[in-house]
Amino acid sequence: MLADIRYWENKASEGKFAIPHFNVWNAEMLMGVMDAAEELNAPVIISFGTGFVGNTSFEDFSAMMVSMAKAATVPVITHWDHGRSMEIVQNAYNHGMNSVMRDASALPFEENIREIREVVDYFHPLGIPVEAELGHVGNETVYEEALAEYAYTDPSQAAEFVERTQCDSLAVAIGNVHGVYSSEPKLNFDVVEKVRDAVSVPLVLHGASGIGDEDIKTAISLGIAKINIHTELCLAAMDAVHAHADATFLELEREIRASVKKRAEEKIVLFGDDGKADLR
Ligand SMILES: [Zn+2]
Repeated sequence: MLADIRYWENKASEGKFAIPHFNVWNAEMLMGVMDAAEELNAPVIISFGTGFVGNTSFEDFSAMMVSMAKAATVPVITHWDHGRSMEIVQNAYNHGMNSVMRDASALPFEENIREIREVVDYFHPLGIPVEAELGHVGNETVYEEALAEYAYTDPSQAAEFVERTQCDSLAVAIGNVHGVYSSEPKLNFDVVEKVRDAVSVPLVLHGASGIGDEDIKTAISLGIAKINIHTELCLAAMDAVHAHADATFLELEREIRASVKKRAEEKIVLFGDDGKADLR
């Protein structure tokens, strides 16, 4: 069934678990994630973003996302990740996404606030929650270089940012990056604690693929309520491709779906999200 991300992020905050956000941009990823959610009775977020439009037509694929979300026995949120403009998040809403992230985190503080507030003012009357990002989670491929000029979330700005934007959840930059980590992630948990104490909205961790299990548990214990996974689903899919290189395409597709399901299940269990569909 379609579900409200605010309800589940708040349940997660209260219950010290995290709701998993899985980027899905083809049928195997989407079906694998939904298989995992059903198997473990887990609420999940399925999400699309601009980075995938070169592979898959969102306007077409969104119909499958919404259809599977509605048909599921577990709560499912349909989300747009890292919306870079008002037009992009409006298009996401027009194609059935019931939650959006507007990412203006590369802009200066005041401009970030202005961009988010504009989107919030548009979407709140429609009942659609908005995630924003303060600080900036980058995409750099060499992790040490990314850290050298990393834009950590400034906890002293967090309360003002949330108050003035009225955003519903806040993505934090604590040393996390998107993609594959080229060396051990170094997370600054002090930032999480300070931001958590400064604001009342749920906190979001992006770029969680490759962050160790203990760090994930620590992040959840400190107030992270939504965790984004993309790269690890891709790696799981590629494991299946390599392991079944001699399979037919029909067989390979089933192997990819099964491999994605297994990895998604591992994340659901790690995040403490298994069985939580009963909290609805
Ligand atoms: Zn992200």
